[in-house]
Amino acid sequence: MRTGELFDLLRDGRPWTRAQLAEATGLARSTITARIDTLMRLGLVAPFGGARSTGGRPPALFALNPTAKLVVGVDIGATHASAALTDLNGSILGEVDAQIAVADGPEAVLSWVVESVRDLLEASERPVEDLAAIGIGLPGPVEHSTGRPINPPIMPGWDRFDVPAYLQEKYPVPVLVDNDVNIMALGERRRHLRDVDDLVLIKVATGIGAGIVSGGVLQRGAQGTAGDLGHVRVPGADDVPCRCGNSGCLEAVAAGPALAAAVRAQGEQAENGGDVVELVRSGSRVAMGVVRQAGRDIGEVVATMVNLINPSVVVIGGQVAGAGEHLLAGIRESVYHRSLPLATEHLRIVTSRAGGEAAVLGASALAIEHVLSPDVVEAASEALAAADAAAEAEAARRR
Ligand SMILES: [Zn+2]
Repeated sequence: MRTGELFDLLRDGRPWTRAQLAEATGLARSTITARIDTLMRLGLVAPFGGARSTGGRPPALFALNPTAKLVVGVDIGATHASAALTDLNGSILGEVDAQIAVADGPEAVLSWVVESVRDLLEASERPVEDLAAIGIGLPGPVEHSTGRPINPPIMPGWDRFDVPAYLQEKYPVPVLVDNDVNIMALGERRRHLRDVDDLVLIKVATGIGAGIVSGGVLQRGAQGTAGDLGHVRVPGADDVPCRCGNSGCLEAVAAGPALAAAVRAQGEQAENGGDVVELVRSGSRVAMGVVRQAGRDIGEVVATMVNLINPSVVVIGGQVAGAGEHLLAGIRESVYHRSLPLATEHLRIVTSRAGGEAAVLGASALAIEHVLSPDVVEAASEALAAADAAAEAEAARRR
């Protein structure tokens, strides 16, 4: 077992003794001692409680040192952006927001990110060397392996733009990019559903999409489009045209603009999904009925997902989730009617609790997962060993 994998055990945040680590890994005590020493030199592990034992004896307990490094999580929306500085536990140390349109193009938006990272580090009084990675969520399809958006419909100028390269000119750290729904799923899990390994987060806003966590791992699929359920066909909507060129898509009947149109058709005023949510909150029966039907339509598609991947929690997020129980009731109605009893027996369908913070928390989680992954920790410990060997050779040469 490598140092990176030993570190993986220590990530649970609990204190470990050398004996416990030896038992869990099967490694010799002397090997454990050497590897813990490496991880302490990297700053990733610290004596538990921060205090060394007295009398010159080495410390007895060790745990992850969450303050060793920092990451920044960034959420870019259609008309807003926010960035949060967090430690390696995902605790937020500082946050900034701006009204900025993704349609202004990558340079305008990413130069805001560069400034925000600088401002957040300055405010925290930490040096730029402590920054370990940046995670970013974008409102469109992203090729996760390269960090490039691919044909994003609401992001002119961004197609195949090299987001990591742009930021790395200023900050030479790993930059992880994903779509907004995937990072929301990660954020919701990190903050409120840590023990849930199978969950789906459905974002209902101007569009509809899903972030899927299965077996504890975010599922992106072969090209990164897994969970793109806005253009799945729903029964009974064949004549409704969609902006994608097809008709009968879920988005065309149940996303924010469709709900506003349905409300207007019944004589009330609404420009977007946010207005519809406001109407529901003020007691409009028309808006309540429209939202409930949208819930049923979303539920038709969610029922198929439930049958296919058997999640234990379905989280509804995004602007329209503000309609709360009216939306959930419609979704539950279809899901319980359409899914297999065994799949729904322990299924929870809930609204997002992380809400607006889910995305930045998830972007931070994306960065943390990379920084603390066994491979990255292993590479850092190998680099340290190589530097030690070089220093030793240099000392021998001078003697
Ligand atoms: Zn469509």
